Amino acid sequence: MIFDLTPEQDQLRDAVRALGRRYGHGYFVEKAKAGEHTTELWAEAGRLGYLGVNIPTEYGGGGGGITELAIVCEELAAAGCPLLLLVVSPAIAATVLARHGTEEQRKRHLPGLADGTQKIVFAITEPDAGSNFHRLSTVARRDGDDWLLNGRKCYISGVDEAGHVLVVARTEDSSSGKLKPALFLVPTDAAGLTRSRLDMEIVSPENQFLLFLDDVRVPADALLGESLDAGLPALFAGLNPERITVAAMGAGTGRYAIERASDYTATRKVWGGRSIGTHQGVSHPLAHAAVQVELARLMIQKAATLYDAGRDLEAGVAGNMAKYAAGEAAALAVDTAVQALGGAGMTTEYGVATLLGAVRAGRIAPVSREMILNFVAQHVLGQDKSY
Ligand SMILES: Cc1cc2nc3c(=O)[nH]c(=O)nc-3n(C[C@H](O)[C@H](O)[C@H](O)COP(=O)(O)OP(=O)(O)OC[C@H]3O[C@@H](n4cnc5c(N)ncnc54)[C@H](O)[C@@H]3O)c2cc1C
Repeated sequence: MIFDLTPEQDQLRDAVRALGRRYGHGYFVEKAKAGEHTTELWAEAGRLGYLGVNIPTEYGGGGGGITELAIVCEELAAAGCPLLLLVVSPAIAATVLARHGTEEQRKRHLPGLADGTQKIVFAITEPDAGSNFHRLSTVARRDGDDWLLNGRKCYISGVDEAGHVLVVARTEDSSSGKLKPALFLVPTDAAGLTRSRLDMEIVSPENQFLLFLDDVRVPADALLGESLDAGLPALFAGLNPERITVAAMGAGTGRYAIERASDYTATRKVWGGRSIGTHQGVSHPLAHAAVQVELARLMIQKAATLYDAGRDLEAGVAGNMAKYAAGEAAALAVDTAVQALGGAGMTTEYGVATLLGAVRAGRIAPVSREMILNFVAQHVLGQDKSY
Protein backbone atom coordinates (compact mmCIF):
# COMPACT_ATOMS: atom_id res chain seq x y z
CA MET A 1 0.00 0.00 0.00
CA ILE A 2 1.62 3.20 -1.19
CA PHE A 3 0.34 6.58 -0.09
CA ASP A 4 2.95 8.69 -1.87
CA LEU A 5 2.20 10.58 -5.03
CA THR A 6 4.47 9.99 -8.01
CA PRO A 7 7.16 12.65 -8.56
CA GLU A 8 5.07 14.01 -11.49
CA GLN A 9 1.96 14.22 -9.31
CA ASP A 10 3.98 15.95 -6.60
CA GLN A 11 5.23 18.49 -9.12
CA LEU A 12 1.69 19.03 -10.35
CA ARG A 13 0.50 19.62 -6.78
CA ASP A 14 3.27 22.16 -6.11
CA ALA A 15 2.72 23.96 -9.39
CA VAL A 16 -1.08 24.21 -8.99
CA ARG A 17 -0.66 25.33 -5.40
CA ALA A 18 1.68 28.11 -6.55
CA LEU A 19 -0.77 29.19 -9.24
CA GLY A 20 -3.70 29.19 -6.81
CA ARG A 21 -1.81 31.20 -4.24
CA ARG A 22 -0.88 33.83 -6.82
CA TYR A 23 -4.60 34.49 -7.28
CA GLY A 24 -5.89 33.59 -3.82
CA HIS A 25 -9.23 33.86 -2.08
CA GLY A 26 -9.25 37.68 -2.29
CA TYR A 27 -9.32 37.45 -6.09
CA PHE A 28 -12.05 34.78 -5.99
CA VAL A 29 -14.28 36.88 -3.72
CA GLU A 30 -13.63 40.10 -5.60
CA LYS A 31 -14.74 38.45 -8.85
CA ALA A 32 -17.80 36.96 -7.18
CA LYS A 33 -18.89 40.24 -5.64
CA ALA A 34 -18.38 42.10 -8.92
CA GLY A 35 -20.53 39.54 -10.74
CA GLU A 36 -17.50 38.53 -12.82
CA HIS A 37 -15.82 35.23 -13.58
CA THR A 38 -12.36 33.96 -12.72
CA THR A 39 -11.44 34.25 -16.39
CA GLU A 40 -7.74 34.98 -15.85
CA LEU A 41 -7.22 32.06 -13.47
CA TRP A 42 -9.10 29.65 -15.74
CA ALA A 43 -7.17 30.79 -18.82
CA GLU A 44 -3.81 30.49 -17.07
CA ALA A 45 -4.65 27.06 -15.64
CA GLY A 46 -5.65 26.02 -19.17
CA ARG A 47 -2.45 27.33 -20.76
CA LEU A 48 -0.39 25.50 -18.16
CA GLY A 49 -2.21 22.25 -18.95
CA TYR A 50 -3.92 21.83 -15.57
CA LEU A 51 -7.48 21.76 -16.94
CA GLY A 52 -6.66 18.94 -19.32
CA VAL A 53 -4.58 16.69 -17.06
CA ASN A 54 -7.11 13.86 -17.39
CA ILE A 55 -7.72 14.23 -21.14
CA PRO A 56 -5.93 11.82 -23.49
CA THR A 57 -2.75 13.22 -25.07
CA GLU A 58 -4.01 12.70 -28.64
CA TYR A 59 -6.63 15.37 -27.94
CA GLY A 60 -4.23 17.83 -26.37
CA GLY A 61 -4.51 16.69 -22.77
CA GLY A 62 -1.99 15.50 -20.22
CA GLY A 63 -2.94 11.83 -20.46
CA GLY A 64 -3.35 11.46 -16.70
CA GLY A 65 -6.36 10.36 -14.72
CA ILE A 66 -8.87 11.54 -12.17
CA THR A 67 -6.10 11.39 -9.55
CA GLU A 68 -4.38 14.27 -11.37
CA LEU A 69 -7.60 16.24 -11.85
CA ALA A 70 -8.46 15.76 -8.16
CA ILE A 71 -5.05 17.23 -7.30
CA VAL A 72 -5.86 20.31 -9.41
CA CYS A 73 -9.30 20.70 -7.79
CA GLU A 74 -7.95 20.26 -4.27
CA GLU A 75 -4.98 22.58 -4.61
CA LEU A 76 -6.94 25.44 -6.19
CA ALA A 77 -9.54 25.12 -3.43
CA ALA A 78 -6.81 24.94 -0.78
CA ALA A 79 -5.60 28.28 -2.15
CA GLY A 80 -9.10 29.71 -1.67
CA CYS A 81 -10.28 29.24 -5.27
CA PRO A 82 -12.82 26.38 -5.31
CA LEU A 83 -13.81 26.35 -9.00
CA LEU A 84 -17.01 24.36 -9.44
CA LEU A 85 -16.68 24.36 -13.21
CA LEU A 86 -13.64 22.07 -12.87
CA VAL A 87 -16.09 19.43 -11.74
CA VAL A 88 -18.51 20.14 -14.57
CA SER A 89 -16.30 20.70 -17.60
CA PRO A 90 -13.04 18.69 -17.31
CA ALA A 91 -14.38 16.06 -14.89
CA ILE A 92 -17.87 15.28 -16.21
CA ALA A 93 -18.00 16.56 -19.80
CA ALA A 94 -14.46 15.59 -20.81
CA THR A 95 -14.76 12.12 -19.28
CA VAL A 96 -18.11 11.48 -20.93
CA LEU A 97 -16.77 12.66 -24.30
CA ALA A 98 -13.50 10.75 -24.03
CA ARG A 99 -15.21 7.52 -23.04
CA HIS A 100 -18.43 7.62 -25.06
CA GLY A 101 -18.28 10.42 -27.64
CA THR A 102 -17.81 9.70 -31.34
CA GLU A 103 -14.33 10.28 -32.75
CA GLU A 104 -15.65 13.39 -34.47
CA GLN A 105 -17.07 14.73 -31.15
CA ARG A 106 -13.81 14.00 -29.34
CA LYS A 107 -11.78 15.83 -31.99
CA ARG A 108 -14.16 18.78 -31.99
CA HIS A 109 -14.48 19.32 -28.24
CA LEU A 110 -11.64 17.77 -26.24
CA PRO A 111 -8.74 20.03 -27.36
CA GLY A 112 -10.72 23.12 -26.29
CA LEU A 113 -11.62 21.55 -22.96
CA ALA A 114 -7.97 20.59 -22.46
CA ASP A 115 -6.58 24.10 -22.98
CA GLY A 116 -9.51 25.78 -21.23
CA THR A 117 -10.69 27.77 -24.27
CA GLN A 118 -13.94 25.82 -24.23
CA LYS A 119 -16.29 24.89 -21.40
CA ILE A 120 -19.11 22.38 -21.51
CA VAL A 121 -21.56 22.40 -18.62
CA PHE A 122 -23.91 19.64 -17.55
CA ALA A 123 -27.69 19.72 -17.19
CA ILE A 124 -29.49 16.84 -15.54
CA THR A 125 -31.45 18.31 -12.59
CA GLU A 126 -35.10 19.16 -13.22
CA PRO A 127 -37.64 20.99 -11.06
CA ASP A 128 -40.08 18.07 -10.90
CA ALA A 129 -37.52 15.27 -10.72
CA GLY A 130 -34.87 16.50 -8.27
CA SER A 131 -32.89 13.59 -6.85
CA ASN A 132 -35.08 11.11 -8.70
CA PHE A 133 -33.56 10.95 -12.16
CA HIS A 134 -36.11 8.32 -13.18
CA ARG A 135 -38.61 11.16 -13.38
CA LEU A 136 -36.72 13.25 -15.92
CA SER A 137 -39.23 14.76 -18.31
CA THR A 138 -37.03 16.64 -20.78
CA VAL A 139 -37.82 14.93 -24.05
CA ALA A 140 -35.85 14.57 -27.28
CA ARG A 141 -37.94 13.81 -30.35
CA ARG A 142 -36.66 13.04 -33.84
CA ASP A 143 -37.63 15.48 -36.57
CA GLY A 144 -36.14 14.32 -39.86
CA ASP A 145 -32.42 14.04 -39.25
CA ASP A 146 -32.60 16.55 -36.40
CA TRP A 147 -33.61 16.30 -32.76
CA LEU A 148 -36.08 18.60 -31.05
CA LEU A 149 -35.61 19.06 -27.30
CA ASN A 150 -38.24 20.26 -24.86
CA GLY A 151 -38.09 20.55 -21.08
CA ARG A 152 -36.76 22.47 -18.09
CA LYS A 153 -33.60 22.19 -16.04
CA CYS A 154 -32.62 23.88 -12.80
CA TYR A 155 -29.50 24.88 -10.86
CA ILE A 156 -27.34 24.43 -13.96
CA SER A 157 -23.90 25.88 -13.23
CA GLY A 158 -21.88 28.00 -15.61
CA VAL A 159 -24.23 28.22 -18.60
CA ASP A 160 -23.17 31.85 -19.12
CA GLU A 161 -19.52 30.79 -19.46
CA ALA A 162 -19.94 27.74 -21.66
CA GLY A 163 -20.16 27.08 -25.37
CA HIS A 164 -22.27 23.95 -24.93
CA VAL A 165 -24.56 22.31 -22.40
CA LEU A 166 -24.54 18.55 -22.15
CA VAL A 167 -28.27 18.01 -21.71
CA VAL A 168 -29.66 14.78 -20.31
CA ALA A 169 -32.98 14.08 -22.01
CA ARG A 170 -35.32 11.15 -22.39
CA THR A 171 -35.82 9.76 -25.82
CA GLU A 172 -39.47 9.83 -26.71
CA ASP A 173 -39.73 6.13 -27.49
CA SER A 174 -38.76 5.13 -23.95
CA SER A 175 -42.27 4.28 -22.81
CA SER A 176 -41.25 1.66 -20.27
CA GLY A 177 -40.94 4.23 -17.49
CA LYS A 178 -37.34 3.11 -16.97
CA LEU A 179 -34.65 5.72 -17.35
CA LYS A 180 -33.34 5.60 -20.86
CA PRO A 181 -31.40 8.79 -21.12
CA ALA A 182 -29.68 10.27 -24.09
CA LEU A 183 -27.13 13.06 -23.88
CA PHE A 184 -27.07 15.99 -26.29
CA LEU A 185 -24.41 18.60 -26.92
CA VAL A 186 -26.51 21.74 -27.19
CA PRO A 187 -24.87 25.07 -28.08
CA THR A 188 -25.69 27.64 -25.39
CA ASP A 189 -26.84 30.06 -28.11
CA ALA A 190 -29.23 27.55 -29.72
CA ALA A 191 -32.61 28.99 -30.73
CA GLY A 192 -35.25 28.03 -28.17
CA LEU A 193 -32.76 27.65 -25.28
CA THR A 194 -33.29 30.39 -22.73
CA ARG A 195 -31.91 30.84 -19.24
CA SER A 196 -32.67 32.72 -16.09
CA ARG A 197 -30.03 33.24 -13.44
CA LEU A 198 -30.94 32.03 -9.96
CA ASP A 199 -30.11 34.18 -6.95
CA MET A 200 -28.03 31.84 -4.78
CA GLU A 201 -26.69 32.55 -1.28
CA ILE A 202 -23.21 31.42 -2.27
CA VAL A 203 -20.23 33.75 -2.72
CA SER A 204 -19.06 32.42 -6.04
CA PRO A 205 -18.00 33.76 -9.42
CA GLU A 206 -19.91 30.84 -10.97
CA ASN A 207 -23.68 31.12 -11.43
CA GLN A 208 -26.60 28.71 -11.44
CA PHE A 209 -29.45 28.92 -13.97
CA LEU A 210 -32.90 27.73 -14.82
CA LEU A 211 -32.88 26.46 -18.39
CA PHE A 212 -35.90 26.37 -20.67
CA LEU A 213 -35.77 24.22 -23.77
CA ASP A 214 -38.56 25.04 -26.20
CA ASP A 215 -38.27 23.15 -29.48
CA VAL A 216 -34.49 23.39 -29.40
CA ARG A 217 -33.40 21.96 -32.75
CA VAL A 218 -30.03 20.22 -32.88
CA PRO A 219 -28.52 18.14 -35.70
CA ALA A 220 -28.14 14.36 -35.53
CA ASP A 221 -24.48 14.60 -34.49
CA ALA A 222 -25.43 16.51 -31.33
CA LEU A 223 -26.45 13.14 -29.85
CA LEU A 224 -23.52 12.01 -27.73
CA GLY A 225 -22.05 8.73 -28.94
CA GLU A 226 -22.67 6.48 -31.89
CA SER A 227 -26.27 5.60 -30.99
CA LEU A 228 -28.99 6.06 -28.39
CA ASP A 229 -27.52 3.13 -26.49
CA ALA A 230 -24.53 5.28 -25.50
CA GLY A 231 -26.75 7.38 -23.21
CA LEU A 232 -26.90 5.32 -20.04
CA PRO A 233 -23.23 4.26 -19.90
CA ALA A 234 -22.22 7.83 -20.77
CA LEU A 235 -24.28 9.19 -17.90
CA PHE A 236 -22.74 6.72 -15.45
CA ALA A 237 -19.26 7.48 -16.79
CA GLY A 238 -19.59 11.04 -15.53
CA LEU A 239 -20.69 10.15 -12.01
CA ASN A 240 -17.47 8.85 -10.46
CA PRO A 241 -15.27 11.70 -11.72
CA GLU A 242 -17.92 14.15 -10.51
CA ARG A 243 -18.04 12.65 -7.00
CA ILE A 244 -14.26 12.39 -6.68
CA THR A 245 -13.42 15.88 -7.92
CA VAL A 246 -16.16 17.59 -5.93
CA ALA A 247 -14.84 15.75 -2.87
CA ALA A 248 -11.33 16.98 -3.66
CA MET A 249 -12.66 20.52 -3.87
CA GLY A 250 -14.30 20.07 -0.47
CA ALA A 251 -11.11 18.71 1.07
CA GLY A 252 -9.13 21.63 -0.36
CA THR A 253 -11.66 24.10 1.02
CA GLY A 254 -11.42 22.44 4.42
CA ARG A 255 -7.63 22.69 4.36
CA TYR A 256 -7.84 26.35 3.38
CA ALA A 257 -10.22 27.20 6.25
CA ILE A 258 -8.19 25.32 8.86
CA GLU A 259 -4.99 27.00 7.70
CA ARG A 260 -6.55 30.47 7.88
CA ALA A 261 -7.90 29.76 11.36
CA SER A 262 -4.72 28.18 12.73
CA ASP A 263 -2.60 31.09 11.52
CA TYR A 264 -4.97 33.41 13.34
CA THR A 265 -5.31 31.48 16.59
CA ALA A 266 -1.55 30.95 16.86
CA THR A 267 -0.95 34.71 17.00
CA ARG A 268 -4.15 36.27 18.39
CA LYS A 269 -3.72 37.21 22.06
CA VAL A 270 -6.54 38.43 24.28
CA TRP A 271 -5.54 36.92 27.67
CA GLY A 272 -2.13 38.25 28.51
CA GLY A 273 0.76 36.78 26.54
CA ARG A 274 -0.76 33.50 25.39
CA SER A 275 -2.37 32.97 22.02
CA ILE A 276 -6.02 31.89 21.89
CA GLY A 277 -4.86 28.67 20.20
CA THR A 278 -3.34 27.68 23.55
CA HIS A 279 -6.89 27.12 24.80
CA GLN A 280 -8.04 23.66 23.94
CA GLY A 281 -11.57 24.94 23.53
CA VAL A 282 -10.20 26.70 20.44
CA SER A 283 -7.55 24.25 19.22
CA HIS A 284 -9.41 20.96 19.67
CA PRO A 285 -12.30 21.77 17.34
CA LEU A 286 -9.76 22.81 14.72
CA ALA A 287 -7.74 19.65 15.29
CA HIS A 288 -10.94 17.58 15.05
CA ALA A 289 -11.83 19.24 11.76
CA ALA A 290 -8.29 18.62 10.49
CA VAL A 291 -8.68 14.91 11.26
CA GLN A 292 -11.99 14.78 9.34
CA VAL A 293 -10.47 16.54 6.33
CA GLU A 294 -7.48 14.20 6.32
CA LEU A 295 -9.74 11.13 6.52
CA ALA A 296 -11.72 12.45 3.56
CA ARG A 297 -8.50 12.99 1.60
CA LEU A 298 -7.55 9.39 2.19
CA MET A 299 -10.87 8.19 0.79
CA ILE A 300 -10.53 10.54 -2.20
CA GLN A 301 -7.11 9.05 -2.93
CA LYS A 302 -8.55 5.53 -2.73
CA ALA A 303 -11.51 6.39 -4.97
CA ALA A 304 -9.32 8.09 -7.57
CA THR A 305 -6.84 5.21 -7.57
CA LEU A 306 -9.63 2.66 -8.08
CA TYR A 307 -11.19 4.76 -10.82
CA ASP A 308 -7.91 5.20 -12.68
CA ALA A 309 -7.33 1.44 -12.42
CA GLY A 310 -10.62 0.90 -14.28
CA ARG A 311 -12.36 -0.57 -11.23
CA ASP A 312 -15.52 1.47 -11.75
CA LEU A 313 -17.85 -0.36 -9.37
CA GLU A 314 -15.48 -0.17 -6.41
CA ALA A 315 -14.68 3.43 -7.35
CA GLY A 316 -18.42 4.12 -7.20
CA VAL A 317 -18.62 3.05 -3.56
CA ALA A 318 -15.39 4.80 -2.59
CA GLY A 319 -16.28 7.92 -4.60
CA ASN A 320 -19.65 8.26 -2.89
CA MET A 321 -18.07 7.76 0.52
CA ALA A 322 -15.35 10.28 -0.31
CA LYS A 323 -17.95 12.81 -1.44
CA TYR A 324 -19.95 12.31 1.74
CA ALA A 325 -16.89 12.54 3.98
CA ALA A 326 -15.43 15.58 2.22
CA GLY A 327 -18.78 17.39 2.15
CA GLU A 328 -19.21 16.97 5.90
CA ALA A 329 -15.55 17.74 6.67
CA ALA A 330 -15.53 20.92 4.57
CA ALA A 331 -18.69 22.23 6.23
CA LEU A 332 -17.28 21.42 9.68
CA ALA A 333 -13.90 22.99 8.89
CA VAL A 334 -15.34 26.26 7.60
CA ASP A 335 -17.82 26.58 10.46
CA THR A 336 -15.11 25.78 13.02
CA ALA A 337 -12.75 28.28 11.40
CA VAL A 338 -15.38 31.02 11.56
CA GLN A 339 -15.87 30.32 15.27
CA ALA A 340 -12.15 30.31 15.99
CA LEU A 341 -11.73 33.70 14.36
CA GLY A 342 -14.52 35.25 16.42
CA GLY A 343 -15.84 38.48 14.92
CA ALA A 344 -13.06 38.43 12.33
CA GLY A 345 -14.54 35.16 11.13
CA MET A 346 -17.60 36.97 9.85
CA THR A 347 -15.68 39.64 7.94
CA THR A 348 -15.02 39.46 4.23
CA GLU A 349 -11.39 40.37 4.87
CA TYR A 350 -10.49 37.17 6.71
CA GLY A 351 -12.00 35.07 3.94
CA VAL A 352 -13.68 32.17 5.73
CA ALA A 353 -17.35 33.13 6.13
CA THR A 354 -17.30 33.75 2.37
CA LEU A 355 -17.19 29.96 2.02
CA LEU A 356 -20.16 29.14 4.27
CA GLY A 357 -22.66 29.04 1.41
CA ALA A 358 -20.40 26.96 -0.82
CA VAL A 359 -19.68 24.28 1.77
CA ARG A 360 -23.35 24.13 2.75
CA ALA A 361 -24.22 23.53 -0.90
CA GLY A 362 -21.56 20.81 -0.96
CA ARG A 363 -23.77 18.72 1.33
CA ILE A 364 -26.60 18.95 -1.22
CA ALA A 365 -24.96 18.98 -4.64
CA PRO A 366 -24.14 17.31 -6.92
CA VAL A 367 -25.60 14.48 -4.90
CA SER A 368 -27.07 15.01 -1.46
CA ARG A 369 -25.75 13.37 1.67
CA GLU A 370 -29.09 11.52 2.05
CA MET A 371 -28.85 10.02 -1.44
CA ILE A 372 -25.31 8.84 -0.67
CA LEU A 373 -26.51 7.25 2.56
CA ASN A 374 -29.28 5.55 0.53
CA PHE A 375 -26.61 4.26 -1.87
CA VAL A 376 -24.41 2.93 0.93
CA ALA A 377 -27.36 1.37 2.77
CA GLN A 378 -28.43 -0.44 -0.38
CA HIS A 379 -25.13 -1.37 -2.05
CA VAL A 380 -22.82 -1.82 0.93
CA LEU A 381 -25.19 -2.85 3.72
CA GLY A 382 -27.53 -4.90 1.51
CA GLN A 383 -30.70 -3.11 2.58
CA ASP A 384 -33.79 -2.96 0.38
CA LYS A 385 -34.17 0.23 -1.59
CA SER A 386 -36.24 2.62 0.50
CA TYR A 387 -37.62 4.85 -2.22
C1 LIG B 1 -24.60 25.19 -6.11
C2 LIG B 1 -25.32 24.14 -6.91
C3 LIG B 1 -24.85 23.83 -8.17
C4 LIG B 1 -25.52 22.87 -8.94
N1 LIG B 1 -25.06 22.62 -10.23
C5 LIG B 1 -25.74 21.74 -11.00
C6 LIG B 1 -25.35 21.53 -12.36
O1 LIG B 1 -24.40 22.12 -12.86
N2 LIG B 1 -26.06 20.65 -13.11
C7 LIG B 1 -27.13 19.96 -12.61
O2 LIG B 1 -27.74 19.18 -13.34
N3 LIG B 1 -27.54 20.15 -11.31
C8 LIG B 1 -26.87 21.02 -10.51
N4 LIG B 1 -27.27 21.23 -9.20
C9 LIG B 1 -28.45 20.52 -8.70
C10 LIG B 1 -28.12 19.46 -7.64
O3 LIG B 1 -27.50 18.36 -8.24
C11 LIG B 1 -29.44 19.12 -6.92
O4 LIG B 1 -29.77 20.25 -6.14
C12 LIG B 1 -29.34 17.89 -6.07
O5 LIG B 1 -29.16 16.75 -6.88
C13 LIG B 1 -30.60 17.68 -5.20
O6 LIG B 1 -31.75 17.79 -5.97
P1 LIG B 1 -32.93 18.78 -5.51
O7 LIG B 1 -32.32 20.10 -5.22
O8 LIG B 1 -34.03 18.74 -6.51
O9 LIG B 1 -33.44 18.19 -4.13
P2 LIG B 1 -34.67 17.18 -3.87
O10 LIG B 1 -34.51 15.96 -4.72
O11 LIG B 1 -35.94 17.93 -3.98
O12 LIG B 1 -34.40 16.77 -2.37
C14 LIG B 1 -34.66 17.68 -1.29
C15 LIG B 1 -34.13 17.04 -0.01
O13 LIG B 1 -34.78 15.78 0.20
C16 LIG B 1 -33.80 14.74 0.31
N5 LIG B 1 -34.30 13.53 -0.34
C17 LIG B 1 -34.87 13.44 -1.59
N6 LIG B 1 -35.15 12.15 -1.85
C18 LIG B 1 -34.75 11.41 -0.78
C19 LIG B 1 -34.78 10.03 -0.45
N7 LIG B 1 -35.24 9.12 -1.31
N8 LIG B 1 -34.25 9.65 0.72
C20 LIG B 1 -33.75 10.56 1.60
N9 LIG B 1 -33.71 11.88 1.36
C21 LIG B 1 -34.19 12.31 0.18
C22 LIG B 1 -32.57 15.26 -0.40
O14 LIG B 1 -31.39 14.66 0.07
C23 LIG B 1 -32.63 16.75 -0.06
O15 LIG B 1 -32.06 16.98 1.20
C24 LIG B 1 -26.63 22.19 -8.42
C25 LIG B 1 -27.10 22.51 -7.13
C26 LIG B 1 -26.46 23.48 -6.38
C27 LIG B 1 -26.99 23.82 -5.02
